[in-house]
This record gives sequence, structure tokens and C-alpha cells, in this order.
Amino acid sequence: MYRDGARKSMWQEEIKRFSSDTDLNQLFDVAVIGGGITGVSTALKLQQSGKKCILIEAANIGFGATGGTTAHLNDFFDTTFAQAINDFGLDNAKLLAEAGKNAMNIIESNISEFSIQCDFEKKKAYLFALDEKQAKQLDDMVEASLKVGHTMEYCNQIPFPIPFEKAVIIPHQGQFHPIKYIKGLCEAFLSAGGNIVEDCLCESHEEEEGEVIVNTSKGVIRVHELVYATHIPPGVNKLHFTNAPYRSYAIAFELKDTDYTQQLGYDLSDPYHYYRVHEINGEKLLIAGGEDHKTGHMEDTGECFTRLENYVRQYFDLDVPYYTWSSQYYEPVDGLPYIGKMPGSNGRIYVATGFRGNGMMFGSLSSEILNDLIVKGSSKYEKLFDPGRVKVGAGFSSFVKENATVVFDLVKDKLTREYIRSLEEIKEGEAKIIWYDGNSYALYKEIGGKLHALKSTCPHAYCEVRWNSAEMTWDCPCHGSRFNVNGRLLTGPTVEGLQKIDLESDI
Ligand SMILES: Cc1cc2nc3c(=O)[nH]c(=O)nc-3n(C[C@H](O)[C@H](O)[C@H](O)COP(=O)(O)OP(=O)(O)OC[C@H]3O[C@@H](n4cnc5c(N)ncnc54)[C@H](O)[C@@H]3O)c2cc1C
Repeated sequence: MYRDGARKSMWQEEIKRFSSDTDLNQLFDVAVIGGGITGVSTALKLQQSGKKCILIEAANIGFGATGGTTAHLNDFFDTTFAQAINDFGLDNAKLLAEAGKNAMNIIESNISEFSIQCDFEKKKAYLFALDEKQAKQLDDMVEASLKVGHTMEYCNQIPFPIPFEKAVIIPHQGQFHPIKYIKGLCEAFLSAGGNIVEDCLCESHEEEEGEVIVNTSKGVIRVHELVYATHIPPGVNKLHFTNAPYRSYAIAFELKDTDYTQQLGYDLSDPYHYYRVHEINGEKLLIAGGEDHKTGHMEDTGECFTRLENYVRQYFDLDVPYYTWSSQYYEPVDGLPYIGKMPGSNGRIYVATGFRGNGMMFGSLSSEILNDLIVKGSSKYEKLFDPGRVKVGAGFSSFVKENATVVFDLVKDKLTREYIRSLEEIKEGEAKIIWYDGNSYALYKEIGGKLHALKSTCPHAYCEVRWNSAEMTWDCPCHGSRFNVNGRLLTGPTVEGLQKIDLESDI
């Protein structure tokens, strides 16, 4: 089954079809858009609360980041408790720490309630500083974690063959197989009377008196409430200015020796490297991740795998990589996710996004927050994760930076498109954006010579797409929409593909 990239992730073989034969011509309580961990967890929770739910997925369950994750389960986050205290105050940082524990409980109780066989294991996590600067950062993290009631203890050894300056151990962390987990949730959702519709793109919505009209590729669906679990929702809204798309890379290797650690590991580099082990089809594999960058900002994304592999080979005795894959996540401008009522809506539209590299946890937590907001009208986390918040101070400089980058991307690419005299100039396996007769085109020539030509302007905000050689996709650097070589839409926020060009007749 499919994922939103050309490379096969370690989890992908477990993806299966779920489409039910749903009559769309009825009023639902809630439509949840997006079949990743966030959408599936939320749909199940709402259905359990007595809401009549429909889960809508543009492709197949697990098609997005959940099929391309590495599935560490941590109750500490990419935004450290030290940053949270500094930017949001001690009480909010304590609430964040509580949110981490709560998310872990949600996952564990789902696994136990629905008897989900998803290779779930409790683990210890090791955070290690590679130099003095990182050691200072680690000291700040330990001090802050004490203040918020989270446990980090210094240790003298780590179960990874990597030289380090200072390290801490964090108990009660975990890992699982993300697709086996959401498959179990989907089965529970269907058993509880929920509806799943795959291959159904949500194109837009309209808020009317008492209900929401959801326009999809399979027709109009009427609902009382709508949840977007799609990262950022379709259309143009405030969340496009407060979230930036990033890519991260993962490789699963067999080790030459049998010295596989059983624990989770993270250094404090920027971007950091992350490690864990998972057994798949009888093979124990070390999964290493890292090399993150802003989407569309790496000339040759294939190099990210080379760099990651070379880095890991310095320390581990590795055999060949079994799987190499990359995926996309969103960075929020002030470091905390956006979970709750969608800014600019009349109160019936909800979103959950901006999870950084912690979407297993925040996606799961979203199910509780959105259920509380929809069923009870309030959540203890609603202020902290309010999608409408604007916190000048916390992340304000990165807010300015991210938006300046979008404007720069928009203008730069319009000015730097190439002219070519003949299509022969494009080599096999090469991709180029070219300028011809007042229009710009995205060209990719397959090995064997077949040329794919598309209009290169993303239909969402009219930025120019850029080639992602690692996943063989055209990626929009502005808001993260992505397309395959045929122009087919893979990832929103746009809801249209890139226009295909017939080179014989269209140019
Ligand atoms: C390489 C990598 C490693 C990571 N590792 C970890 C980790 O170890 N631990 C952790 O906690 N987090 C990790 N993350 C983050 C985590 O994987 C994601 O945050 C999480 O999977 C997001 O889940 P989601 O359900 O919100 O989104 P997705 O899984 O992306 O699901 C969104 C779904 O919505 C669908 N969709 C989009 N638009 C529409 C539309 N208009 N209509 C219908 N459907 C639509 C998509 O097809 C997709 O299936 C990692 C991320 C990356 C990239």
C-alpha cells in the first residue's frame, strides 16, 4: 500500500484498505479529515463518546507522515521544558509536561482496551551531549525538567557506541509499530459504528447556520463539526503563516555485530540524530534518523541519506541499509502545537498541527483535547495549544524568519528559472524547472528517456515547486504541498495537482 513518497518505509507493508460502503447522503456529527495517527485517534475517541463520525482520507490510512515516522514515544519534546518555561512560564511548562504523560497514557490505554498487537515496548531514553556547548544545554534541560516534575537523571554510560560529553537517562518512554497501532484503532472505530472513506479528498468547507458543508471529491457531506487532521487545512488561513514544513530522513540498518541496544537515543546536535531498534519480518534493525531541513531547501535531498549513513557508520558496525525513507512534519513558530478551534472559523472547525518531531504524542493527545472541546465545550489544554494564539516573544524572531523565507522562496524562484534550448539538454534521471515562452515548467526525464512535464507553479499560493530527488517528488517550499512526477497531489495544503503538459500539443 502507498505512502506519500517513492521510497518504501519500514512500516508500509502493514498498511491496508479500510473503505466502508458509507452513504454520504446523511448528516454526521463530526467529519475527521486525515487518516494518520491524529485523525484516526480523534475519530475513535469521538465515536466512543457517542458522536456519529466519518473519517475521510485523500489516499489510504497511513499515507502521510504516520507511514513515514520513526515512532519513538517520548513524554519530553523537541521544544524543551527549559524553552517552555522561558517562553510560556512555569505553569504552562508544567501543563506541557503533564500533556506528555497524558499522551503516553492515551496510547497505552488504547493498546490495552482494544488489544492492539503493535510491538509496543516500554523503553528508557538517553539524551547525550556531544560537546561542551551541548552539555550546557543538557544541564539547562535537567534543571528545567526538575521544575516541571519530569524525570531526567545524569548517567555515566549510554548504550550507544558514541563518544559523549554528558548524558541523562529518562525512564518510562516507549516505541511501537505506528501502522499496526493505527490499524488497530481503525478496527475499533469501525466496530464502534464509525465510517471510513478512503480516496476521498476534502476540497473545502462552508460554515452554515448549525452545520458545516464539506466539499469532497466524492460529493458533499453535511456535518455538525469538522476536524482537520491534515497538518495544515486546505485553503489559505492563518496556520500557513505560523507553521513551516520540514523534512526528516530515516535509515534502517542491519548491524554486523549483534550488539543492538534496546533503548532510545538522541544527541543534542541541531538537527539532532535519533536512534532505536525494531524487529521487522524477523530482522532486527537499527533505525537512525536526522538531517532535517526546511522542505525545498536542500539542493540534492538524496545527499541527506548519504550524510546520515556516513555519520552513523562512524560509530556502528553497519551492514547494508534495508530501508531508507523521508517524510514531512511541521514546525510551529513558537514551539508548541496548534490543537483546537481553527482561527477564523465560527467555532465548528477544529485543527491539530505543528507537532515538530513529536506527532505520535501530540497526535494522540489531540484526540482527548478535540473530544473535550467538541463534547464538553472546554479542555484544560485549550489555551496552551490555542491555534489562534499569537505570542510575540516566544518564537517571534522565527515567525518573522519563516515568513521572510516564504516570500524569498516565492520571489527567488520566479527570477532564477533556467532557459534551455532543447529538451535534449535534460539528462536521464535529471529534473529541472525551466522557463519557456512566458511560462515555467517542471521537467523530469526518467532513465530510459521518458519526459514528464508539468506546470511548475503550486496552485496553493503560487510558489514554484522544487525537485526532491530522494522521494521523486516536486515539493513546494512555501507551505509543503507535494506532487509526484505525474503532477498527482500527494500532500496538501493544496487540493489540486500540478497541471500535466503534453509536450507535443501544449507547448
Ligand atoms: C522522519 C520522521 C520521523 C518522525 N519520528 C517521530 C517519532 O519518532 N516520534 C514522534 O512522536 N513523532 C515523529 N515524527 C512526527 C510524526 O510522525 C508526525 O507528526 C505524525 O505522524 C503526524 O500525524 P498526523 O496524523 O497529524 O499526519 P499524517 O500522518 O500526515 O496524516 C495526515 C493525513 O491527512 C491526509 N490528507 C491531507 N490533506 C487531506 C485532504 N484535503 N483531504 C483528505 N485527506 C487529506 C493525508 O493523505 C494523510 O494521510 C516524525 C516525523 C518524520 C517526518
